Amino acid sequence: MIHTRTLRPGDKALALAARVLRAGGLVAFPTETVYGLGARALDARAARRVYKAKGRPSDNPLIVHVADEAMLAGVVRRVTPLARRLIDAFWPGPLTLILEKSDRVPSAVTAGGRTVAVRCPGHRAARALIRALGEPIAAPSANLSGRPSPTTAAHVLRDLRGRVALILDGGPCREGLESTIVDARGRRPVVLRRGTVTDEMIARAAGIAPAPPGPAAPAAPGARHRHYAPSCRVILAPPALVRRGALAGLSGPSAGLVHRTPWPGRPPAYALRVRGGAGAYAAALFSALRGAESAGVETLYVETVPDRGVGRAVMDRLRRAARR
Ligand code: AMP
Ligand code: MG
Repeated sequence: MIHTRTLRPGDKALALAARVLRAGGLVAFPTETVYGLGARALDARAARRVYKAKGRPSDNPLIVHVADEAMLAGVVRRVTPLARRLIDAFWPGPLTLILEKSDRVPSAVTAGGRTVAVRCPGHRAARALIRALGEPIAAPSANLSGRPSPTTAAHVLRDLRGRVALILDGGPCREGLESTIVDARGRRPVVLRRGTVTDEMIARAAGIAPAPPGPAAPAAPGARHRHYAPSCRVILAPPALVRRGALAGLSGPSAGLVHRTPWPGRPPAYALRVRGGAGAYAAALFSALRGAESAGVETLYVETVPDRGVGRAVMDRLRRAARR
């Protein structure tokens, strides 16, 4: 067990964080998507510590975070014309690109693969940390493997207390869902994981509609593993049932509801109503799952959203959270 400190990401804390990383240690930091658990990307031993701290299967590669294009050039073999267009449209931001890795990237980071996942985060503190280190940072989400991704420093502390030296607390994450992952090696983008950068946005920027992942482009390795599972059972509830108050199981003492549509019945033991569109729902989702869990909810009903735009990414996470 190591002592875990939580600090606001001011200049002094960033300098301390860079020292921890340089020494091969781990730092959790805010990004616009979810909190990341960072290590020096060019150091295989440091990267292996990330897997250990999270209890992450070693076949599930990490995302390399860069502060700018000069750093990108150091970790990939070549920036394809497609990657170029997507970078121009979405970086810094919640889009991760899969490209051929350079020899500098250790195979511990890529889980033995020849490709690397790379992105430039839209959060200032994240870029400031990478700059303070002066090197790319490998970082998956800062949760224990299989749990909902963390969108606040408190979530990180709950999962990783004693396993990470320092947590930089930059407040709640703006997007709240993990980055969109696109294989940008070919001419046509292949979406491996949906996020808040939608298929439509990618099509517009790339000038060509994304292809569905085929056998030639396996889904993001992480998609194979169990994900987003809070300790409570998650049941998906269509809006029509919420509107009619037709969720019989909700009357129990340990039931909860996450919803957008007004619930006409007696308020359940735990209720969280999210106001706004699919984007607002995305931003609140993981926090809601963890909130219900902390409140002792055993059965959590979660209202579904239409399966389009950002809603597709939300529904992807929800279906996995509900899978048993
Ligand atoms: P996380 O940041 O925790 O969401 O984890 C990063 C995710 O990126 C993993 O679940 C992987 O599925 C995905 N990923 C990382 N590297 C690659 C790669 N080289 N090819 C495809 N997917 C990747
Ligand atoms: Mg993750």
